[in-house]
Amino acid sequence: MAYIEPAPIKDKENPLESMMSRFDAAARLLGLTEEMYHILKVPARQVTVGLPITMDNGEIKVFEGHRVIHSTILGPSKGGIRLDPGVNIDEVRALAAWMTWKCAVVDIPYGGAKGGIACNPREMSAGEIERLMRAYTVAMLDVFGPDRDIPAPDMGTGPREMAWLMDEYSKSRGMTINGVVTGKPLVLGGSLGRTEATGRGVTIAALSAMDKLRMNPYRATAAIQGFGNVGSFAAELLHERGVTVTAISDITGGYYNEKGLDITAAMAYRNAHNGTLDGFTGAERITNEELLALPVDVLVPAAKEDVITAENADAIQARMIVEGANGPTSASADDIINEKGIMVVPDILANAGGVTVSYFEWVQNRIGYKWTLDRINRRSDRNMKDAFDRVFETSKKYKVSMRLAAYIVAIDKVASTYKYRGGY
Ligand code: NAD
Repeated sequence: MAYIEPAPIKDKENPLESMMSRFDAAARLLGLTEEMYHILKVPARQVTVGLPITMDNGEIKVFEGHRVIHSTILGPSKGGIRLDPGVNIDEVRALAAWMTWKCAVVDIPYGGAKGGIACNPREMSAGEIERLMRAYTVAMLDVFGPDRDIPAPDMGTGPREMAWLMDEYSKSRGMTINGVVTGKPLVLGGSLGRTEATGRGVTIAALSAMDKLRMNPYRATAAIQGFGNVGSFAAELLHERGVTVTAISDITGGYYNEKGLDITAAMAYRNAHNGTLDGFTGAERITNEELLALPVDVLVPAAKEDVITAENADAIQARMIVEGANGPTSASADDIINEKGIMVVPDILANAGGVTVSYFEWVQNRIGYKWTLDRINRRSDRNMKDAFDRVFETSKKYKVSMRLAAYIVAIDKVASTYKYRGGY
């Protein structure tokens, strides 16, 4: 399964605005000056390019590609590249800012960026996609760089596309520079542990939250929506740590067993059945909506955005929500969830294990040395736990939700670094 770098917060009720509403609230609580507010809101650089590509039928088609660097205050910018028909500059701008906060909250020395090309990769041949990726790389030669801006996979891209990018960039520089991109195949300098990194980070976030709420993982139950990269590894690792996973789900619906599901069997079943759980036995069938309302201790939405909204938030009985997906809770549901006293470990913290191991990939490329899986897991677990503790302390200090606290930690870090560095 391809690793996908953190992507969108989408809110059907208020598209892409939910991130900004949370950013605004955190900025107010921090007492951010108007000048600083504008510095942090406006992207540092944005580049749009036209990419003429010869298609397999001999026709030349021009694609539009973007790269937005929101901030380089903390370090080189980091963010995925998506290939999708819906790519547009406004969305890329919002996603680039989102990356700045995500890296800052887990204390990774990166700024935020995002890129994309408006195209439909499902209707293109491998050769067409390769030419497009190479052309995009050449057009972005003065943007990308291991010390400047480091892309990664996102929607519609994976290790294959990252290999082409790394190769084209290296050729143009006359030497192999694998640190220009993360999410590469292992043989090209990809990192061990990256595939399971996000699910692992979700697990560490959940265990840290249980610790704060004095819950014993061996007596806890969990329901996990989404059984792809993030959800299945989170289910496996939570189970390994003693948690009884009573429900899982995917696009085909939910699977419930009060006594706990056999996660290893579910993963094997999914791998053998086109990536879905359809027909999985040993469980009662429920709907995705029913899964969200189960009386479990831990609810992990790890499928898609906007599944917990003002309409269904009241039905949630879990003691905590650990957001594996990006933007699973719409801004309109925040207040209802908070009033019910449910702890939410927000997406920018809970699913940052992936970008953490991307950072480790880059570190390994730069020192020219491969770390063992054990070292990677230990370091990423520690990083996630430290980030959780920082956000938790901040939520106590400001008497706000974990979500607002995560934004406060991130914005404060970027703003205070800017103050030390100074402007013009
Ligand atoms: P994936 O494609 O591997 O898996 C998605 C899962 O969700 C599948 O099991 C699919 O069947 C299920 N699903 C899709 N639509 C659904 C629906 N309507 N109802 C219920 N289930 C549905 O994706 P992933 O990489 O696991 O990503 C899941 C979420 O986590 C996304 O929001 C993604 O942006 C976010 N995320 C992923 C990573 C990562 O490292 N993969 C990192 C950060 C955030």
